[in-house]
Amino acid sequence: MREVYRHHEFIRVNHFRDLVEAAGIPTMLRNEHLVHGVVEIPIPEFYPNLCVMNDEDYEEAWSIVHQALEAEKTHPGEDLSCPECGENNPANFAECFACQTQLESPKPC
Ligand SMILES: [Zn+2]
Repeated sequence: MREVYRHHEFIRVNHFRDLVEAAGIPTMLRNEHLVHGVVEIPIPEFYPNLCVMNDEDYEEAWSIVHQALEAEKTHPGEDLSCPECGENNPANFAECFACQTQLESPKPC
């Protein structure tokens, strides 16, 4: 098992987990029980983190995470999660790409 990504926002870690799992790579979240999206623990050791179960998947998993991070720089803004189906949409989308539900503007946490 090897750590790929660590961040204090569980929702971010979980988002990257979805991306990596979608590529067929088995993953595991650590410290997920310590935060519930709202409480931030200011100690990096306790941040939620995403691990690959098999070390040999690390390179591929990291490249997926890295690409997603790069894409965020190109398209800044928070993802909008669809109120209907929960799918994440880029901030500039007016409708959910999955179910065409009207998306609301992101609310500050
Ligand atoms: Zn939707």
